[in-house]
Amino acid sequence: MIVEEHVQSYINSLNKEEDSFILQLEKEAHEHHVPIIRSETRELLRFLVRMKKPARILEIGTAIGYSAIVMHKCQGQDGKLDTIERNEKRYNSACANIEKAGFSESIQIHFGDALDVLEQLKESYDFIFMDAAKAQYENFLERCMGRLDREGILVCDNILQDGSVAQSRYAVTRRDHTVHDRMREFLYNLKRNETLDTVILPVGDGVAISRKK
Ligand code: SAH
Ligand code: MG
Repeated sequence: MIVEEHVQSYINSLNKEEDSFILQLEKEAHEHHVPIIRSETRELLRFLVRMKKPARILEIGTAIGYSAIVMHKCQGQDGKLDTIERNEKRYNSACANIEKAGFSESIQIHFGDALDVLEQLKESYDFIFMDAAKAQYENFLERCMGRLDREGILVCDNILQDGSVAQSRYAVTRRDHTVHDRMREFLYNLKRNETLDTVILPVGDGVAISRKK
């Protein structure tokens, strides 16, 4: 937890009740230990998508389709969403969930490693949500920039790793050194990227919101 638990619980307690389909997806994620966006991140994403009204959203890291469905519901009528997942089991679950939601026509799931799929995508997007392998964010960004429209929004999740990214590398376990170092480098570069304006927020697991100039 980055924000004190009682503060976060209070904020979350103000949320309206979710519909049964969304609650069912949360249950499925929980049962299979799938790391979906936290509720505070979900609320932020909904707000940003409603504000931006993107025609085309790109998501990196579908898991079982939870955040894709949440975002797509906030897009305009003719909105399209492309999302990428490399884990076959999760890809299959996402396909089933998106069909159940009735979005098979407007959400397209691409099976494969995002580094490869990003090279093949021809479309451009006005909203990109990055939520996959944390050590690859710099590489994803490099491949995404050309796909992001001017004035487009890029949202990156889990950038503070429960706050550990803000700690000295000696305070994090050896196993996490690579992610720690790469995430710090990614955030440093993101803030200095000349074509992006970026704000870093301690929401959920840490969220960076960038806007292309
Ligand atoms: N956005 C989802 C959660 C995604 S969890 C939600 O909030 O509902 C991150 C997912 O990214 C995992 O399912 C993992 O398999 C996938 N992933 C990680 N690295 C990837 C890569 N390089 N290419 C494609 N998918 C990747
Ligand atoms: Mg995440």
